[in-house]
Amino acid sequence: MPPSTPPPLPSPTPEPPLVYLMAHGNPNLPEIALTFDDGPSPDYTKSVLDVLRHYHVLATFFMIGSWVERYPDLARAVVADGHAIGDHTWNHADLTQLSADQMMKQLSDTRDTIQRVTGYTTHLFRPPYMAYNRQVLDIAHSLKLSTILWSIDPHDYTLPGKGPIISTVLTNAQNGSVVLMHDGGGDRSQTVAALSTIIEQLQGRGFTFVTIPQMLQHLPPSSDASLAERIAPAARDAPGEAPWELDQELAGSDDLAEQKN
Ligand SMILES: [Zn+2]
Repeated sequence: MPPSTPPPLPSPTPEPPLVYLMAHGNPNLPEIALTFDDGPSPDYTKSVLDVLRHYHVLATFFMIGSWVERYPDLARAVVADGHAIGDHTWNHADLTQLSADQMMKQLSDTRDTIQRVTGYTTHLFRPPYMAYNRQVLDIAHSLKLSTILWSIDPHDYTLPGKGPIISTVLTNAQNGSVVLMHDGGGDRSQTVAALSTIIEQLQGRGFTFVTIPQMLQHLPPSSDASLAERIAPAARDAPGEAPWELDQELAGSDDLAEQKN
């Protein structure tokens, strides 16, 4: 931790356990995490917050550091509503194309800016483009950031229409799902339009919505350990080696939890 980091204000939730990689929550709990990437954005973040507030739902926002710097009031509004924030790099970089020093700077500058601007201490990281290798995961882990992927991607950034966004989420939702959506980086009007129906339908099925820190706290005891064990020991043995692609099944996301059963 850099010595210049100011003292943190209390985070909305207790510090979650540090995991190496997570794409799915506890498969035995009827809880779902909504996540919003690429903000904060002056066009859509407030609209997303309005919908979440209306339904008393908490979510997680993976923010871009340069946008936090540019729109500090929006970042503070997210924290003020009780949502969690994650680190999504400084400028949406493909980290696998960068040097270790550059990777470290992308993550630590963003983490520190979130802290300075909002008072919120983030423990989460999500790699843009889902582009990561062992070195990226190691660096995130060294910064005490858990790397968080997702298990449902309705491809809202391709503007498929409100209907397909809703149906992809509803069709695939299950215990522990992590849903990837976007509140920044382009036209997110379809995402905003889809959100109410997604929340109402999933609540109607008995799901509750949790933040990613809450989901991490609710992981079964063996889950984070077994995940970390799968990829961390070799990573510890070979720091700084050339970028390394994870197994397809690990990169693939939503069967992570099932594999433990
Ligand atoms: Zn992104």
